[in-house]
Amino acid sequence: MVHFIGAGPGAEDLITVRGAKLLGEADVIIYAGSLVNPALLNYKKESCAVYDSASMTLEQVIEVVKDTEARGGMTVRLHTGDPSLYGAIREQMDELDKLGVGLRRDPRCVLLLRRGRRPLRGVYTARGITVGYHHPHGGPHPRAEGEELRKMASHGCTMVLFLSTGLLEDVEQELAAGGYAPDTPAAIVYKATWPEQRVYRCTVSTLAKTARENQVTKTALITIGHFLGDDYERSKLYDPTFTHEFREASK
Ligand code: SAH
Repeated sequence: MVHFIGAGPGAEDLITVRGAKLLGEADVIIYAGSLVNPALLNYKKESCAVYDSASMTLEQVIEVVKDTEARGGMTVRLHTGDPSLYGAIREQMDELDKLGVGLRRDPRCVLLLRRGRRPLRGVYTARGITVGYHHPHGGPHPRAEGEELRKMASHGCTMVLFLSTGLLEDVEQELAAGGYAPDTPAAIVYKATWPEQRVYRCTVSTLAKTARENQVTKTALITIGHFLGDDYERSKLYDPTFTHEFREASK
């Protein structure tokens, strides 16, 4: 059995109870060493073998699983965050299916909301949160065109951009072309929840400069939108003048 587990954002105690338990039971852990906080490995049992997938190919990962299965062992494949976000998990699952290896996914996966096993790539919108990927020069993941980013900007979308820290000049241009005012709030969140976490607040027109000045080149989320400002509306849910299923408005 192979368990695909999400490590959470970074801090050792932000993994699920179930994920931590499975790490403790695993005979082999294959973890994405470029992104997963190695402190998560503290949950493993002493005899557990550990592989860092950062320097491995898909074939090598599958080979390790195959060997573990042959010995009757259990593998945890530990991905950062939610494995279904840019985790390249479908290709692993397909290979494991071919081999008839049983697998379980972290039940938190956004992926569960989708039919099949397609990881979320490119651009999608859900509940006003947009995950964008913008890579005009190609890269490890298929690219979404800058145009898509521009289109989202034209709708005033709140955005959370993954894998974009090295492309902030382009991001700025596309956001401006989409009509985002230069002073629209933005923030660069570096290594969220890790001990070295840093948050830089800026605007959509100063993203590249802010990243440069603070030497942020990777492992950052770029967040954009007015939710970062101070304006908000009080929720009707707890508003005394509002009636809903569980509560009458007070007179
Ligand atoms: N599956 C992961 C994403 C993997 S792609 C997840 O759900 O988060 C790697 C990108 O994720 C990074 O380039 C960065 O944009 C983002 N990322 C992942 N963890 C992060 C963290 N702790 N802080 C900031 N950005 C993070």
